[in-house]
Amino acid sequence: MIATDSKVALVSFYINGAWETPRGRTMGTVTNPATGAVLAEVPYANAADVDSAVRTAHAAFLKWREVPVIDRVQVLYRYKTLLDKYSNDLAAILTSENGKTTDDARMEVRRMIQMVEVACGMPSLMMGDSLNDVAAGLDCKTIRQPIGVCAGITPFNFPAMVPMWMHPFAIACGNSFILKPSEKVPLTPTRAIELLHDAGLPPGVLNLIHGDKVSVDALLHHPLVKAVSFVGSTPVAKYIYSTAAAEGKRVQALGGAKNHLIVMPDADMPKTVEAIIGSAFGAAGERCLAGSVLVPVGDAAGPLLELLVARTRSLAVGDGAAPGIEMGPLVTGDHCKRVESYVEKGVAEGATPLVDGRERKADAGYYLGPTIFDHVTPDMTIAREEIFGPVLSVIRVNTLDDAIDLVNSCPFGNATAIFTASGKSAREYSSRCQVGMVGINVGVAAPMAFFPFAGWKNSFFGDLHAHGKDAVRFYTEQKVIMSRWW
Ligand code: NAD
Repeated sequence: MIATDSKVALVSFYINGAWETPRGRTMGTVTNPATGAVLAEVPYANAADVDSAVRTAHAAFLKWREVPVIDRVQVLYRYKTLLDKYSNDLAAILTSENGKTTDDARMEVRRMIQMVEVACGMPSLMMGDSLNDVAAGLDCKTIRQPIGVCAGITPFNFPAMVPMWMHPFAIACGNSFILKPSEKVPLTPTRAIELLHDAGLPPGVLNLIHGDKVSVDALLHHPLVKAVSFVGSTPVAKYIYSTAAAEGKRVQALGGAKNHLIVMPDADMPKTVEAIIGSAFGAAGERCLAGSVLVPVGDAAGPLLELLVARTRSLAVGDGAAPGIEMGPLVTGDHCKRVESYVEKGVAEGATPLVDGRERKADAGYYLGPTIFDHVTPDMTIAREEIFGPVLSVIRVNTLDDAIDLVNSCPFGNATAIFTASGKSAREYSSRCQVGMVGINVGVAAPMAFFPFAGWKNSFFGDLHAHGKDAVRFYTEQKVIMSRWW
Protein backbone atom coordinates (compact mmCIF):
# COMPACT_ATOMS: atom_id res chain seq x y z
CA MET A 1 0.00 0.00 0.00
CA ILE A 2 1.16 3.50 -0.78
CA ALA A 3 -0.08 6.15 1.68
CA THR A 4 -0.12 9.76 0.52
CA ASP A 5 0.25 12.87 2.60
CA SER A 6 0.35 16.40 1.26
CA LYS A 7 3.68 16.10 -0.54
CA VAL A 8 4.85 12.65 -1.40
CA ALA A 9 3.67 9.02 -1.49
CA LEU A 10 4.92 6.88 1.39
CA VAL A 11 5.50 3.15 1.05
CA SER A 12 4.02 1.06 3.89
CA PHE A 13 5.01 -2.06 5.82
CA TYR A 14 2.59 -5.01 5.87
CA ILE A 15 2.52 -6.58 9.33
CA ASN A 16 -0.03 -9.06 10.69
CA GLY A 17 -2.33 -8.52 7.71
CA ALA A 18 -2.46 -4.70 8.04
CA TRP A 19 -0.67 -1.80 6.35
CA GLU A 20 1.41 0.47 8.56
CA THR A 21 3.29 3.59 7.60
CA PRO A 22 5.71 4.20 10.43
CA ARG A 23 6.87 7.79 11.02
CA GLY A 24 10.18 9.04 12.35
CA ARG A 25 12.27 6.41 10.55
CA THR A 26 15.25 6.90 8.25
CA MET A 27 13.75 7.52 4.81
CA GLY A 28 14.86 6.47 1.31
CA THR A 29 13.72 7.90 -2.00
CA VAL A 30 12.32 5.92 -4.92
CA THR A 31 12.86 7.54 -8.32
CA ASN A 32 11.84 6.88 -11.90
CA PRO A 33 15.20 6.23 -13.58
CA ALA A 34 13.87 7.33 -16.95
CA THR A 35 13.26 10.87 -15.71
CA GLY A 36 14.81 11.20 -12.26
CA ALA A 37 11.35 12.14 -10.87
CA VAL A 38 10.65 11.14 -7.25
CA LEU A 39 7.96 8.43 -7.10
CA ALA A 40 7.78 7.79 -3.36
CA GLU A 41 9.58 7.80 -0.05
CA VAL A 42 10.23 4.60 1.83
CA PRO A 43 10.70 4.24 5.61
CA TYR A 44 13.53 1.96 6.74
CA ALA A 45 12.65 -0.54 9.47
CA ASN A 46 14.64 -0.33 12.69
CA ALA A 47 15.47 -3.28 14.97
CA ALA A 48 12.22 -2.87 16.95
CA ASP A 49 10.16 -2.97 13.73
CA VAL A 50 11.94 -6.18 12.71
CA ASP A 51 11.42 -7.74 16.13
CA SER A 52 7.71 -6.99 15.99
CA ALA A 53 7.40 -8.41 12.44
CA VAL A 54 9.28 -11.59 13.41
CA ARG A 55 7.20 -12.18 16.56
CA THR A 56 4.03 -11.70 14.52
CA ALA A 57 5.32 -14.14 11.91
CA HIS A 58 6.22 -16.68 14.59
CA ALA A 59 2.73 -16.54 16.13
CA ALA A 60 1.19 -16.96 12.66
CA PHE A 61 3.51 -19.88 11.87
CA LEU A 62 2.23 -21.86 14.87
CA LYS A 63 -1.28 -21.81 13.34
CA TRP A 64 -0.37 -21.89 9.63
CA ARG A 65 1.71 -25.06 9.90
CA GLU A 66 -1.44 -26.87 11.14
CA VAL A 67 -3.41 -25.87 8.01
CA PRO A 68 -3.45 -28.83 5.58
CA VAL A 69 -1.19 -28.21 2.59
CA ILE A 70 -4.13 -28.64 0.23
CA ASP A 71 -5.81 -25.67 1.94
CA ARG A 72 -2.62 -23.61 2.07
CA VAL A 73 -2.23 -23.78 -1.70
CA GLN A 74 -5.82 -22.58 -2.27
CA VAL A 75 -4.55 -19.10 -1.31
CA LEU A 76 -1.84 -19.42 -3.96
CA TYR A 77 -4.35 -20.47 -6.64
CA ARG A 78 -6.37 -17.32 -5.89
CA TYR A 79 -3.14 -15.29 -5.83
CA LYS A 80 -2.18 -16.59 -9.28
CA THR A 81 -5.57 -15.49 -10.65
CA LEU A 82 -5.11 -11.98 -9.23
CA LEU A 83 -1.53 -11.74 -10.52
CA ASP A 84 -2.75 -12.69 -14.00
CA LYS A 85 -5.50 -10.09 -13.81
CA TYR A 86 -3.17 -7.28 -12.76
CA SER A 87 -0.02 -8.40 -14.58
CA ASN A 88 0.20 -5.38 -16.88
CA ASP A 89 -0.27 -2.97 -13.96
CA LEU A 90 2.51 -4.74 -12.08
CA ALA A 91 4.76 -4.51 -15.13
CA ALA A 92 4.06 -0.77 -15.45
CA ILE A 93 5.02 -0.17 -11.79
CA LEU A 94 8.14 -2.26 -12.34
CA THR A 95 9.20 -0.20 -15.36
CA SER A 96 8.53 3.05 -13.52
CA GLU A 97 10.89 2.28 -10.61
CA ASN A 98 13.47 -0.04 -12.22
CA GLY A 99 13.69 1.33 -15.78
CA LYS A 100 13.48 -1.95 -17.74
CA THR A 101 11.34 -1.90 -20.89
CA THR A 102 7.65 -2.77 -20.82
CA ASP A 103 8.25 -6.03 -22.74
CA ASP A 104 10.99 -7.05 -20.34
CA ALA A 105 8.86 -6.13 -17.30
CA ARG A 106 5.95 -8.18 -18.65
CA MET A 107 8.27 -11.14 -19.16
CA GLU A 108 9.48 -10.79 -15.57
CA VAL A 109 5.90 -10.73 -14.29
CA ARG A 110 5.17 -13.88 -16.33
CA ARG A 111 8.12 -15.60 -14.63
CA MET A 112 6.94 -14.31 -11.28
CA ILE A 113 3.54 -15.93 -11.77
CA GLN A 114 5.16 -19.22 -12.82
CA MET A 115 6.77 -19.42 -9.35
CA VAL A 116 3.31 -19.33 -7.78
CA GLU A 117 2.05 -21.93 -10.26
CA VAL A 118 4.85 -24.32 -9.26
CA ALA A 119 4.35 -23.69 -5.53
CA CYS A 120 0.66 -24.67 -6.02
CA GLY A 121 1.96 -28.21 -6.58
CA MET A 122 3.19 -28.42 -2.97
CA PRO A 123 0.89 -31.34 -1.99
CA SER A 124 2.90 -33.50 -4.41
CA LEU A 125 6.25 -31.71 -4.00
CA MET A 126 6.30 -32.12 -0.21
CA MET A 127 5.63 -35.85 -0.22
CA GLY A 128 8.16 -38.07 1.49
CA ASP A 129 9.21 -41.68 0.91
CA SER A 130 8.05 -44.81 2.62
CA LEU A 131 9.05 -48.45 2.69
CA ASN A 132 7.31 -51.15 4.67
CA ASP A 133 9.14 -54.12 6.20
CA VAL A 134 12.60 -52.56 6.26
CA ALA A 135 13.03 -55.28 8.90
CA ALA A 136 10.50 -57.84 10.06
CA GLY A 137 7.35 -55.84 10.99
CA LEU A 138 9.21 -52.54 10.81
CA ASP A 139 8.06 -49.72 8.53
CA CYS A 140 9.95 -46.56 7.65
CA LYS A 141 8.84 -43.23 6.16
CA THR A 142 10.19 -39.74 5.69
CA ILE A 143 8.07 -36.64 6.11
CA ARG A 144 8.84 -32.96 5.44
CA GLN A 145 7.86 -30.33 7.99
CA PRO A 146 8.08 -26.52 7.86
CA ILE A 147 10.92 -24.86 9.76
CA GLY A 148 9.41 -21.63 11.10
CA VAL A 149 9.95 -17.97 10.26
CA CYS A 150 11.91 -17.57 7.02
CA ALA A 151 13.36 -14.27 5.75
CA GLY A 152 13.98 -13.08 2.19
CA ILE A 153 16.30 -10.21 1.22
CA THR A 154 16.14 -9.30 -2.45
CA PRO A 155 17.95 -7.09 -5.05
CA PHE A 156 16.79 -4.19 -7.21
CA ASN A 157 16.99 -5.85 -10.61
CA PHE A 158 14.06 -8.30 -10.40
CA PRO A 159 11.64 -6.80 -7.83
CA ALA A 160 8.69 -8.84 -9.14
CA MET A 161 10.33 -12.22 -9.72
CA VAL A 162 13.06 -12.71 -7.11
CA PRO A 163 10.82 -12.37 -4.01
CA MET A 164 8.70 -15.11 -5.66
CA TRP A 165 11.70 -17.46 -5.76
CA MET A 166 11.18 -17.53 -2.02
CA HIS A 167 7.89 -16.78 -0.32
CA PRO A 168 5.33 -18.82 -2.35
CA PHE A 169 7.46 -21.94 -1.75
CA ALA A 170 8.09 -21.11 1.92
CA ILE A 171 4.44 -20.40 2.63
CA ALA A 172 3.13 -23.42 0.74
CA CYS A 173 5.47 -25.57 2.87
CA GLY A 174 3.78 -24.18 6.02
CA ASN A 175 6.32 -21.53 7.06
CA SER A 176 5.73 -17.85 7.69
CA PHE A 177 7.84 -15.25 5.93
CA ILE A 178 9.39 -11.77 6.28
CA LEU A 179 10.22 -10.09 2.97
CA LYS A 180 12.76 -7.25 2.89
CA PRO A 181 12.95 -6.19 -0.78
CA SER A 182 15.46 -3.73 -2.23
CA GLU A 183 14.83 -0.25 -0.89
CA LYS A 184 15.47 1.09 -4.40
CA VAL A 185 12.38 -0.63 -5.87
CA PRO A 186 9.82 -1.26 -3.08
CA LEU A 187 6.71 -0.39 -5.12
CA THR A 188 6.47 -3.60 -7.18
CA PRO A 189 6.75 -6.02 -4.22
CA THR A 190 4.33 -3.84 -2.25
CA ARG A 191 1.71 -4.11 -5.02
CA ALA A 192 2.34 -7.87 -5.25
CA ILE A 193 1.77 -8.29 -1.51
CA GLU A 194 -1.47 -6.27 -1.75
CA LEU A 195 -2.69 -8.95 -4.14
CA LEU A 196 -1.58 -11.73 -1.78
CA HIS A 197 -3.61 -10.02 0.96
CA ASP A 198 -6.62 -9.88 -1.38
CA ALA A 199 -6.13 -13.59 -2.08
CA GLY A 200 -6.93 -14.23 1.59
CA LEU A 201 -3.59 -15.09 3.18
CA PRO A 202 -4.13 -15.25 6.97
CA PRO A 203 -2.60 -12.33 8.91
CA GLY A 204 1.07 -12.66 9.86
CA VAL A 205 1.93 -15.49 7.46
CA LEU A 206 3.71 -13.02 5.21
CA ASN A 207 5.07 -9.71 6.47
CA LEU A 208 6.71 -7.00 4.38
CA ILE A 209 9.24 -4.54 5.73
CA HIS A 210 11.50 -2.10 3.92
CA GLY A 211 14.98 -1.00 4.83
CA ASP A 212 18.73 -1.20 4.56
CA LYS A 213 21.54 -2.97 6.45
CA VAL A 214 19.96 -2.15 9.83
CA SER A 215 16.85 -4.22 9.09
CA VAL A 216 18.88 -7.00 7.44
CA ASP A 217 21.18 -7.27 10.47
CA ALA A 218 18.18 -7.45 12.80
CA LEU A 219 16.81 -10.37 10.75
CA LEU A 220 20.19 -12.15 10.66
CA HIS A 221 20.56 -12.02 14.44
CA HIS A 222 16.93 -12.69 15.43
CA PRO A 223 16.65 -16.07 17.19
CA LEU A 224 13.16 -16.75 15.78
CA VAL A 225 14.33 -16.45 12.15
CA LYS A 226 15.22 -20.00 11.10
CA ALA A 227 16.17 -19.59 7.44
CA VAL A 228 17.49 -16.75 5.28
CA SER A 229 17.25 -16.51 1.49
CA PHE A 230 19.33 -13.77 -0.10
CA VAL A 231 19.89 -12.57 -3.65
CA GLY A 232 22.25 -9.66 -4.36
CA SER A 233 25.90 -8.73 -4.79
CA THR A 234 28.75 -11.06 -3.81
CA PRO A 235 30.18 -9.05 -0.88
CA VAL A 236 26.75 -8.85 0.76
CA ALA A 237 25.97 -12.50 -0.10
CA LYS A 238 29.19 -13.59 1.66
CA TYR A 239 28.32 -11.45 4.67
CA ILE A 240 24.75 -12.78 4.86
CA TYR A 241 25.95 -16.37 4.52
CA SER A 242 28.65 -16.16 7.19
CA THR A 243 26.57 -14.10 9.66
CA ALA A 244 23.35 -16.13 9.40
CA ALA A 245 25.21 -19.47 9.38
CA ALA A 246 27.12 -18.42 12.51
CA GLU A 247 23.70 -17.82 14.12
CA GLY A 248 22.77 -21.42 13.26
CA LYS A 249 20.34 -20.53 10.49
CA ARG A 250 19.84 -22.25 7.18
CA VAL A 251 21.10 -19.94 4.40
CA GLN A 252 21.02 -19.71 0.63
CA ALA A 253 22.86 -16.60 -0.65
CA LEU A 254 23.00 -15.95 -4.39
CA GLY A 255 25.67 -13.43 -5.37
CA GLY A 256 27.06 -11.49 -8.31
CA ALA A 257 28.34 -12.61 -11.68
CA LYS A 258 30.79 -12.16 -14.55
CA ASN A 259 29.31 -14.21 -17.37
CA HIS A 260 31.24 -15.30 -20.47
CA LEU A 261 29.69 -15.83 -23.90
CA ILE A 262 31.79 -18.16 -26.08
CA VAL A 263 31.37 -17.90 -29.85
CA MET A 264 32.82 -20.64 -32.07
CA PRO A 265 33.64 -19.93 -35.74
CA ASP A 266 30.84 -22.31 -36.84
CA ALA A 267 28.11 -20.37 -34.97
CA ASP A 268 25.11 -18.93 -36.85
CA MET A 269 26.35 -15.34 -36.64
CA PRO A 270 23.10 -13.34 -37.19
CA LYS A 271 21.22 -15.41 -34.59
CA THR A 272 24.19 -15.32 -32.23
CA VAL A 273 24.37 -11.52 -32.49
CA GLU A 274 20.68 -11.18 -31.52
CA ALA A 275 21.25 -13.49 -28.55
CA ILE A 276 24.32 -11.50 -27.45
CA ILE A 277 22.43 -8.20 -27.73
CA GLY A 278 19.67 -9.58 -25.50
CA SER A 279 22.15 -11.02 -23.03
CA ALA A 280 24.60 -8.10 -22.74
CA PHE A 281 22.25 -5.12 -23.15
CA GLY A 282 18.79 -6.45 -22.17
CA ALA A 283 17.66 -4.79 -18.93
CA ALA A 284 20.64 -2.44 -19.47
CA GLY A 285 22.98 -5.26 -18.43
CA GLU A 286 21.41 -5.28 -14.94
CA ARG A 287 20.86 -9.05 -14.86
CA CYS A 288 22.87 -11.63 -12.95
CA LEU A 289 22.66 -13.71 -16.14
CA ALA A 290 23.86 -10.88 -18.42
CA GLY A 291 26.72 -11.69 -20.78
CA SER A 292 29.61 -9.46 -19.74
CA VAL A 293 32.66 -10.97 -21.49
CA LEU A 294 32.43 -12.01 -25.14
CA VAL A 295 34.95 -14.68 -26.11
CA PRO A 296 35.26 -15.21 -29.88
CA VAL A 297 37.29 -18.33 -30.65
CA GLY A 298 39.72 -18.43 -33.63
CA ASP A 299 38.26 -16.83 -36.76
CA ALA A 300 34.89 -16.00 -35.12
CA ALA A 301 35.91 -12.46 -34.11
CA GLY A 302 35.87 -10.80 -37.57
CA PRO A 303 32.35 -11.66 -38.80
CA LEU A 304 30.90 -11.56 -35.28
CA LEU A 305 32.13 -8.11 -34.31
CA GLU A 306 31.20 -6.54 -37.64
CA LEU A 307 27.55 -7.56 -37.21
CA LEU A 308 27.49 -6.96 -33.46
CA VAL A 309 28.85 -3.41 -33.61
CA ALA A 310 26.35 -2.40 -36.32
CA ARG A 311 23.43 -3.89 -34.37
CA THR A 312 24.58 -2.28 -31.11
CA ARG A 313 24.74 1.16 -32.75
CA SER A 314 21.13 0.74 -33.91
CA LEU A 315 19.82 -0.25 -30.47
CA ALA A 316 16.88 1.97 -29.41
CA VAL A 317 17.77 3.46 -25.99
CA GLY A 318 15.19 5.49 -24.03
CA ASP A 319 12.35 5.45 -21.52
CA GLY A 320 11.44 1.78 -21.05
CA ALA A 321 7.75 2.72 -20.95
CA ALA A 322 7.85 4.08 -24.54
CA PRO A 323 7.03 1.73 -27.44
CA GLY A 324 9.90 0.35 -29.51
CA ILE A 325 12.58 0.97 -26.85
CA GLU A 326 15.09 -1.89 -26.57
CA MET A 327 17.17 -0.65 -23.63
CA GLY A 328 16.12 1.59 -20.74
CA PRO A 329 18.10 3.61 -18.19
CA LEU A 330 20.18 2.32 -15.28
CA VAL A 331 18.42 2.08 -11.94
CA THR A 332 19.85 5.11 -10.11
CA GLY A 333 22.09 8.09 -10.78
CA ASP A 334 24.78 6.62 -8.50
CA HIS A 335 24.74 3.30 -10.29
CA CYS A 336 24.90 5.06 -13.68
CA LYS A 337 28.02 6.97 -12.54
CA ARG A 338 29.57 3.73 -11.26
CA VAL A 339 29.05 1.98 -14.61
CA GLU A 340 30.42 5.01 -16.47
CA SER A 341 33.52 4.88 -14.28
CA TYR A 342 34.13 1.33 -15.58
CA VAL A 343 33.97 2.64 -19.16
CA GLU A 344 36.59 5.26 -18.19
CA LYS A 345 38.74 2.51 -16.61
CA GLY A 346 38.48 0.40 -19.76
CA VAL A 347 39.83 3.28 -21.86
CA ALA A 348 42.53 4.11 -19.28
CA GLU A 349 43.72 0.47 -19.11
CA GLY A 350 44.12 0.28 -22.90
CA ALA A 351 41.03 -1.53 -24.22
CA THR A 352 39.68 -0.40 -27.60
CA PRO A 353 36.12 1.04 -27.46
CA LEU A 354 34.23 -0.15 -30.56
CA VAL A 355 31.03 1.46 -29.29
CA ASP A 356 31.15 4.08 -26.48
CA GLY A 357 27.91 4.34 -24.49
CA ARG A 358 28.89 7.72 -23.07
CA GLU A 359 27.92 9.23 -26.43
CA ARG A 360 24.27 8.35 -25.73
CA LYS A 361 23.79 9.96 -22.34
CA ALA A 362 20.68 12.14 -21.93
CA ASP A 363 20.01 15.38 -20.02
CA ALA A 364 17.43 13.78 -17.73
CA GLY A 365 17.29 10.19 -16.45
CA TYR A 366 20.12 7.75 -15.77
CA TYR A 367 21.09 6.76 -19.30
CA LEU A 368 24.28 5.23 -20.58
CA GLY A 369 24.27 3.64 -24.03
CA PRO A 370 25.65 0.15 -24.76
CA THR A 371 29.46 -0.10 -24.82
CA ILE A 372 31.71 -2.69 -26.48
CA PHE A 373 35.45 -2.92 -25.74
CA ASP A 374 37.74 -4.98 -27.98
CA HIS A 375 41.24 -6.28 -27.17
CA VAL A 376 40.45 -6.64 -23.48
CA THR A 377 42.92 -8.74 -21.48
CA PRO A 378 41.97 -10.92 -18.50
CA ASP A 379 43.91 -8.72 -16.05
CA MET A 380 41.93 -5.53 -16.88
CA THR A 381 39.39 -4.29 -14.33
CA ILE A 382 36.54 -4.49 -16.86
CA ALA A 383 37.35 -8.18 -17.43
CA ARG A 384 37.48 -9.07 -13.74
CA GLU A 385 34.81 -7.10 -11.87
CA GLU A 386 31.04 -7.25 -12.09
CA ILE A 387 29.93 -4.00 -13.78
CA PHE A 388 26.18 -4.65 -13.82
CA GLY A 389 25.59 -2.33 -16.76
CA PRO A 390 25.58 -2.38 -20.58
CA VAL A 391 29.33 -2.90 -21.03
CA LEU A 392 30.63 -5.87 -23.04
CA SER A 393 34.34 -6.75 -23.00
CA VAL A 394 35.77 -8.80 -25.89
CA ILE A 395 38.61 -11.21 -25.05
CA ARG A 396 39.81 -13.05 -28.16
CA VAL A 397 41.16 -16.60 -27.75
CA ASN A 398 42.55 -19.21 -30.16
CA THR A 399 40.87 -22.44 -29.08
CA LEU A 400 37.94 -23.81 -27.09
CA ASP A 401 40.46 -25.04 -24.48
CA ASP A 402 41.68 -21.44 -24.05
CA ALA A 403 38.06 -20.30 -23.60
CA ILE A 404 37.46 -22.98 -20.95
CA ASP A 405 40.65 -21.99 -19.09
CA LEU A 406 39.58 -18.34 -19.16
CA VAL A 407 36.09 -19.09 -17.82
CA ASN A 408 37.37 -21.45 -15.13
CA SER A 409 39.94 -18.93 -13.89
CA CYS A 410 37.12 -16.46 -13.15
CA PRO A 411 36.15 -16.29 -9.45
CA PHE A 412 32.46 -16.03 -10.40
CA GLY A 413 30.51 -18.96 -11.87
CA ASN A 414 26.93 -17.83 -12.30
CA ALA A 415 26.06 -18.31 -15.99
CA THR A 416 27.67 -18.77 -19.38
CA ALA A 417 26.75 -19.62 -22.96
CA ILE A 418 28.37 -21.19 -25.98
CA PHE A 419 27.26 -20.45 -29.55
CA THR A 420 28.16 -23.21 -32.00
CA ALA A 421 26.78 -25.59 -34.64
CA SER A 422 28.89 -28.41 -33.18
CA GLY A 423 27.34 -30.80 -30.66
CA LYS A 424 30.85 -31.90 -29.73
CA SER A 425 31.98 -28.35 -28.81
CA ALA A 426 28.74 -27.73 -26.91
CA ARG A 427 29.08 -30.98 -24.97
CA GLU A 428 32.74 -30.38 -24.21
CA TYR A 429 32.10 -26.84 -22.99
CA SER A 430 28.99 -27.55 -20.95
CA SER A 431 30.61 -30.44 -19.13
CA ARG A 432 34.00 -28.79 -18.41
CA CYS A 433 33.01 -25.21 -17.47
CA GLN A 434 32.77 -24.51 -13.74
CA VAL A 435 29.56 -22.52 -13.95
CA GLY A 436 26.09 -23.15 -12.49
CA MET A 437 23.84 -22.25 -15.46
CA VAL A 438 24.87 -22.93 -19.06
CA GLY A 439 23.21 -21.88 -22.31
CA ILE A 440 23.86 -23.67 -25.60
CA ASN A 441 22.88 -21.16 -28.28
CA VAL A 442 20.90 -19.47 -25.48
CA GLY A 443 22.19 -16.07 -24.30
CA VAL A 444 20.27 -15.88 -21.01
CA ALA A 445 20.16 -19.37 -19.50
CA ALA A 446 17.47 -18.62 -16.91
CA PRO A 447 16.05 -21.85 -15.44
CA MET A 448 12.25 -21.97 -15.23
CA ALA A 449 10.42 -22.11 -11.89
CA PHE A 450 10.40 -25.93 -11.77
CA PHE A 451 14.23 -26.15 -12.15
CA PRO A 452 16.79 -24.91 -9.60
CA PHE A 453 18.53 -21.53 -10.03
CA ALA A 454 22.01 -20.65 -8.72
CA GLY A 455 25.62 -20.25 -9.73
CA TRP A 456 28.89 -21.72 -8.48
CA LYS A 457 31.99 -20.28 -6.80
CA ASN A 458 31.62 -16.63 -5.67
CA SER A 459 28.18 -16.47 -7.25
CA PHE A 460 26.56 -18.69 -4.62
CA PHE A 461 26.99 -19.49 -0.95
CA GLY A 462 24.97 -22.40 0.38
CA ASP A 463 23.82 -25.83 -0.75
CA LEU A 464 20.21 -25.73 -1.90
CA HIS A 465 19.47 -23.52 -4.89
CA ALA A 466 16.52 -21.18 -5.46
CA HIS A 467 13.10 -22.47 -6.60
CA GLY A 468 12.32 -25.89 -8.14
CA LYS A 469 12.57 -28.93 -5.87
CA ASP A 470 15.52 -27.35 -4.02
CA ALA A 471 13.13 -24.72 -2.60
CA VAL A 472 11.01 -27.48 -1.03
CA ARG A 473 14.12 -28.98 0.56
CA PHE A 474 15.32 -25.57 1.73
CA TYR A 475 12.04 -24.59 3.38
CA THR A 476 11.42 -27.94 5.14
CA GLU A 477 13.07 -30.21 7.66
CA GLN A 478 13.13 -33.89 6.82
CA LYS A 479 12.15 -36.38 9.52
CA VAL A 480 12.44 -40.18 9.44
CA ILE A 481 9.77 -42.17 11.30
CA MET A 482 10.21 -45.88 11.98
CA SER A 483 7.21 -47.78 13.29
CA ARG A 484 6.41 -51.22 14.62
CA TRP A 485 2.98 -52.24 15.85
CA TRP A 486 2.31 -55.17 18.11
P1 NAD B 1 22.89 -5.51 -3.13
O1 NAD B 1 23.77 -6.60 -2.63
O2 NAD B 1 23.39 -4.11 -3.04
O3 NAD B 1 21.50 -5.50 -2.31
C1 NAD B 1 20.72 -6.67 -2.20
C2 NAD B 1 19.92 -6.60 -0.90
O4 NAD B 1 20.82 -6.56 0.21
C3 NAD B 1 19.03 -5.37 -0.79
O5 NAD B 1 17.81 -5.76 -0.21
C4 NAD B 1 19.81 -4.46 0.14
O6 NAD B 1 18.98 -3.63 0.93
C5 NAD B 1 20.59 -5.41 1.01
N1 NAD B 1 21.91 -4.90 1.41
C6 NAD B 1 22.72 -4.08 0.68
N2 NAD B 1 23.86 -3.85 1.35
C7 NAD B 1 23.78 -4.54 2.50
C8 NAD B 1 24.67 -4.72 3.60
N3 NAD B 1 25.87 -4.12 3.64
N4 NAD B 1 24.28 -5.50 4.62
C9 NAD B 1 23.08 -6.11 4.60
N5 NAD B 1 22.19 -5.98 3.59
C10 NAD B 1 22.54 -5.22 2.55
O7 NAD B 1 22.45 -5.89 -4.61
P2 NAD B 1 21.65 -5.01 -5.67
O8 NAD B 1 22.52 -3.89 -6.12
O9 NAD B 1 20.30 -4.70 -5.15
O10 NAD B 1 21.46 -6.07 -6.84
C11 NAD B 1 22.42 -6.31 -7.83
C12 NAD B 1 23.29 -7.50 -7.46
O11 NAD B 1 22.47 -8.65 -7.28
C13 NAD B 1 24.27 -7.86 -8.59
O12 NAD B 1 25.50 -8.17 -7.99
C14 NAD B 1 23.64 -9.10 -9.23
O13 NAD B 1 24.54 -9.95 -9.87
C15 NAD B 1 23.02 -9.74 -8.04
N6 NAD B 1 21.96 -10.67 -8.42
C16 NAD B 1 22.23 -12.00 -8.36
C17 NAD B 1 21.28 -12.92 -8.77
C18 NAD B 1 21.59 -14.38 -8.74
O14 NAD B 1 20.70 -15.18 -9.01
N7 NAD B 1 22.81 -14.79 -8.42
C19 NAD B 1 20.02 -12.48 -9.21
C20 NAD B 1 19.77 -11.11 -9.23
C21 NAD B 1 20.75 -10.21 -8.84
